[in-house]
Amino acid sequence: MNYNKLFEKIYQSLGNTENLGQVASYIPELKNVNPHKFGVHLTTLNDKHYSFGDSDEKFSIQSIAKVLALVLAYQLEDEKLWERVGVEPSGTPFNSLVQLEYDKGIPRNPLINAGALVISDILVGHFEDPKKHFIEFVRKVSGISGIDYSSRIADSEKSTGYTNAALANLMKSFGNIRNDIDTVLDFYFSLCSIEMTCRELSRTFLFLADYGVCPYSKERMISTSKSKRINAIMQLCGFYDEAGEFSFKVGLPGKSGVGGGIIAIHPNKYSIAVWSPRLNAKGNSILGMKFLELFTTATKASIF
Ligand code: GLN
Repeated sequence: MNYNKLFEKIYQSLGNTENLGQVASYIPELKNVNPHKFGVHLTTLNDKHYSFGDSDEKFSIQSIAKVLALVLAYQLEDEKLWERVGVEPSGTPFNSLVQLEYDKGIPRNPLINAGALVISDILVGHFEDPKKHFIEFVRKVSGISGIDYSSRIADSEKSTGYTNAALANLMKSFGNIRNDIDTVLDFYFSLCSIEMTCRELSRTFLFLADYGVCPYSKERMISTSKSKRINAIMQLCGFYDEAGEFSFKVGLPGKSGVGGGIIAIHPNKYSIAVWSPRLNAKGNSILGMKFLELFTTATKASIF
């Protein structure tokens, strides 16, 4: 199957998309991104590559990085992890505070902001230099030494990060944040600031299509069972209160970020990264979701 041709055909079929959605503006730096960028890259387990558009341009992966933080924390904590964060879909926006009070400071899942802050707290408590350790982990998983945080994006988010600070404070009051709040927030904002191209993103996540093994280095990153569970969490929680919609229309485990990126995994086959910065009201890339829907429809292949 020549996906390059299919990518182009699907992109053309999207028609006039001028007025669809808005780039994220609550993080000042993200406002400066060209809203018309569009890129896609698919990497198969046997190292075939297909791409279209701005697939070699870096963008802020934002919440997609929460999955990698989860992988590292799950490795460290094993099943103890689930005492501090759940595995249920939240049905609420990614930065929602309301549920957290009812749930006594235990976030519904690790992919909403509250959950990722708990994961950040675990990593901060575990390593002498958590930012260094985490980025080295991401470089190992991806096999790409140049991947890095963007201090410009992290500082920008810090300057307006009131809701995340509120989430961290609320959880601290319930005893579910153990370390200094500013240190945890600083790690979280750095985590979200990582930049990758679509090509790099799809390569980084390929191990989740191969049941935890990096297909290029053959190194196991996480056990088969844990890898399947991470995919299950992405399937149910990766798009917040739109996880049902993504499952319904695309049929793959995936994760979005407010930078407009989406990663989706077809276990045993491929990982595909799409980037289009304009978001819907739920903070998910409009064209990215639509493109993946048309792609899994055209290829007649999803996990279902
Ligand atoms: N850094 C962003 C935030 O905390 C991540 C949100 C996202 O990508 N959905 O608001």
